[in-house]
Amino acid sequence: MANCIDCKQDMRTATGCVIDELNLGGVTYARKPFGYEPSWPTKASRCGDCGCERGQHHHLGCDVARCPKCDWQLFSCGCPFEEYGVSELEMLTAAA
Ligand SMILES: [Zn+2]
Ligand SMILES: [Zn+2]
Ligand SMILES: [Zn+2]
Repeated sequence: MANCIDCKQDMRTATGCVIDELNLGGVTYARKPFGYEPSWPTKASRCGDCGCERGQHHHLGCDVARCPKCDWQLFSCGCPFEEYGVSELEMLTAAA
């Protein structure tokens, strides 16, 4: 694993990401915390992908995180948020 490039924390020990909202085209979208995902009915206390705690926000690039705009997987939905870029994808790909 690695340090999140957005919050700079070690993803294994951080409670969650400090990025709690995403901006796109002048609109701010509040992120949904871990535990919200309808397709991921896990009881785990920490996200198996990015390591955030339940009720906290996934680190950007996590493949469990949902898009707050279209509700699809954030890493594959393609919404061009200002906070979310290629570097987030490379972050977790490199850590895998
Ligand atoms: Zn983070
Ligand atoms: Zn996660
Ligand atoms: Zn989206």
